[in-house]
Amino acid sequence: ICVDIEKIIYKVLDFNKINMENHEVSYQFQDKPLLVMGDEDSLTQIMMNLVSNAIKYSPKGGKIQISAWKEGEYRAISIKDEGLGIPADSLNQLFSKFYRVDNSDRRQIGGTGLGLSIVKEIVTSHKGDIRVSSVYGEGSTFTIRLPIGVNLDEEDLLLRA
Ligand code: ATP
Ligand code: MG
Repeated sequence: ICVDIEKIIYKVLDFNKINMENHEVSYQFQDKPLLVMGDEDSLTQIMMNLVSNAIKYSPKGGKIQISAWKEGEYRAISIKDEGLGIPADSLNQLFSKFYRVDNSDRRQIGGTGLGLSIVKEIVTSHKGDIRVSSVYGEGSTFTIRLPIGVNLDEEDLLLRA
């Protein structure tokens, strides 16, 4: 199935808007519509976990930049925040089940440590991948890649033309 991830992004942001008083969101979308292969519920879950982390781990607010672009057969989607960032020695464990960064800057922030492991599982089952880059104390960028979606209606039309 093929889904427009732009719609999912707006839905997820709307759902999170009560926690976003101090955040400023910007969008950089290339090659619209942002079709990817996947089902709506799974992709909503991915975006929900990444966006809620971006908000939760930038308690002072700041910019959240959401971008999408093409990388070969894949569509890349990144969520960049200006929050607490991730210590370099935590990066390789980040996607493990129940792993949480245990630093004084975030001990007050609750969670189960499952969000990113679920994202990784869904992305992998969709034949995509996820990567993270972060500077501790400055912010984080999570980038997922998913196979570009083909709109079957359009393809049908082309075949018939
Ligand atoms: P849950 O998502 O299950 O409620 P959680 O947010 O702690 O709990 P994950 O989403 O898996 O779990 O994230 C794992 C850890 O990675 C977090 O505890 C947090 O320290 C760190 N982390 C995740 N996203 C960010 C981010 N955008 N900025 C800074 N740290 C992050
Ligand atoms: Mg989380």
